[in-house]
Amino acid sequence: MTRIETHCVHAGVKPDPVTGAIMTPIYQTSTFVQEKPGEPLLHDYSRAGNPTRDALETSMATLEGARWAYTFSSGLAAAQAVIQILEPDAHVLVSEDVYGGTGRLFRRMYAKYGLEFEFIDMRDPKVIEQHMTDKTRMIWIETPTNPLLRIVDVPAIAELTKDRDCSVLVDNTFCSPILQRPLEMGADLVLHSSTKYLAGHSDLVGGVVMTSDEKWSEELKFVQFAAGAVNAPQECFLLLRSIKTLALRMERHSTNALALAEALETMPEFEEVIYPGLPSHPQYDLAQRQMPHGCSGIVSAYLPGSMERVSRFMSNLSVFSLAESLGGVESLVNHPETMTHASVPPDLRVKLGIDAGLIRFSVGIENAEDLIEDVRRALEA
Ligand SMILES: *Cc1c(COP(=O)(O)O)cnc(C)c1O
Repeated sequence: MTRIETHCVHAGVKPDPVTGAIMTPIYQTSTFVQEKPGEPLLHDYSRAGNPTRDALETSMATLEGARWAYTFSSGLAAAQAVIQILEPDAHVLVSEDVYGGTGRLFRRMYAKYGLEFEFIDMRDPKVIEQHMTDKTRMIWIETPTNPLLRIVDVPAIAELTKDRDCSVLVDNTFCSPILQRPLEMGADLVLHSSTKYLAGHSDLVGGVVMTSDEKWSEELKFVQFAAGAVNAPQECFLLLRSIKTLALRMERHSTNALALAEALETMPEFEEVIYPGLPSHPQYDLAQRQMPHGCSGIVSAYLPGSMERVSRFMSNLSVFSLAESLGGVESLVNHPETMTHASVPPDLRVKLGIDAGLIRFSVGIENAEDLIEDVRRALEA
C-alpha cells in the first residue's frame, strides 16, 4: 500500500497524454468544445468541472483517505457549502472557539434561515451528549482549536452519533491529513481552509471538503455546481504544486513549533505557553493519540502586562512578521484579541481567555534557533 508521502507527490497528477507534461496543466478555459450537442468529451463548463480541478480533487481525496473531495474558492465557501445542505430546522453543535469567520458565517448569515447553532466547549464528550437533541444534525469540530489549542476527542464524539441522523465534521485545517486523520477516527466529513497549511506559501485562498459518504458527496457536488463557489484553475494548480511538499513541511512546522514552545517555557516573561506537544498541555495524552506524528505549527503564549508592551514585543520581532493567517513557510505572529478574533463576541472572548496578553505564533520552516533568538531579542529590546 502506497504511503502518504508518496501520495503527496503523485496522487491526482498523471503525465499529459498529448505532450507528456509531467505536471497537470492549468486548463485556463471557461468552456469546452463539443462534437455533438450534449456530448462533451469530459467537461462542458468550468463551474461544473475542469481538468486541473479534477487533479486537485483526486489528490485531496487520496491524501485524506476519502472517496471524494470537492474544492471551493475559500475555506468559508467550503463551510457554506456544507451548511447549505442542512435543512432549515437543523441544530448544529459547534466548538465555542471555532475559527472566527466560521462563527460569523453561522451567527450572522445562516441563523436567520432557521438553523440553530449552539456553541459549546467540546473538550468533554459527555457535555456534547447532554446538548444533543432530536434535531442535532451536525457536530462541527475544530481540533486543535484556534488560538487556545484545545483538543477534541474525535472518536468519542463519532461514537455518540453512531445510531443517529447526525454527521460529524472535523475542520482539519490546523493539522492537514499528514498529522491528523479524522475519517479514520469516525468523522463523516473533513474540511480544510487550503489557504493555510495545504497551500503553505501564503499565496492563495481556497477550501476543500472530503467525505466517503455517498449521500454527502452527491449533495456537495450539487452545491459546488449549483452555487458555484469554485476555485479557479490557476489556484488548483498552485495547490497541487504545494501539496508535493506537504509532508516535509508539516514535519518541519511541528519540530520547529515544539522547539519554540519549549524555549518559551523557559523564558520568565511568558506566563503560560500553550502547545499540544508540551507535556504541560492539559490534554497532552489525547493530543499524542490523535496527532502521533506532530502537533503542527501553532503556539500560543501569554505575555502579561500592558497592551503597549505586547504590541512593542510583536513589532520588535524581525523573523516573525506581524500578520493574520497561518500555515505558511514563513513565521507569523498575531494578536488574536485585536486581529483574527476581533469578530468573536466580547463576552465569549473573555470567557475563553483571549485577552490583551495572548499572542499566537504560526511557526514556519525557518531555522528553529533563529526563531528562538528572534523572540529573545524582541523581549530584550
Ligand atoms: C482560515 C480558516 C478558515 C477559513 O478559511 P478561508 O480560506 O480564510 O476562507 C476556516 N477554518 C480554519 C480553522 C481556518 O484557520
